Amino acid sequence: MVLVGGCHCGAIRYEVRGEPIAHALCHCRDCRRHAGAPMVGWAMYPADAVKVTQGEPKLYKSSEHGRRYFCPDCGTGLFYTNDDVFPGIIDVQSATFDDPEAVPAQAHIQVAERIKWMGRAHELPAFDRFPPRE
Ligand SMILES: [Zn+2]
Ligand SMILES: [Zn+2]
Repeated sequence: MVLVGGCHCGAIRYEVRGEPIAHALCHCRDCRRHAGAPMVGWAMYPADAVKVTQGEPKLYKSSEHGRRYFCPDCGTGLFYTNDDVFPGIIDVQSATFDDPEAVPAQAHIQVAERIKWMGRAHELPAFDRFPPRE
């Protein structure tokens, strides 16, 4: 299987070969604050399975060993590596796949740091678009 993806503006494109080692929705504080989102989906691959085919992501050191890669033009988060905890592994921000349905998430991780109301997010009212106006 080959999946392709990229950032919002299109400056950075990548391709990924093979099945992910895992695909998890991360609730840790670092992911949340870097993405500006309540959780972030990560598909984990061997580092050599992922190839940037266009553009050059910018590197941000988000912790002592954590490295986050994002598009310097539009800010989309793309990859994460941590040579201390996950040597030889790269995490791909799975919502940046052109087909984000291709690899379903398998688990929630780092829920010890989850925003409390996110634990019941699936119970919230849902609308195809927006709530009806009064
Ligand atoms: Zn971009
Ligand atoms: Zn995280």
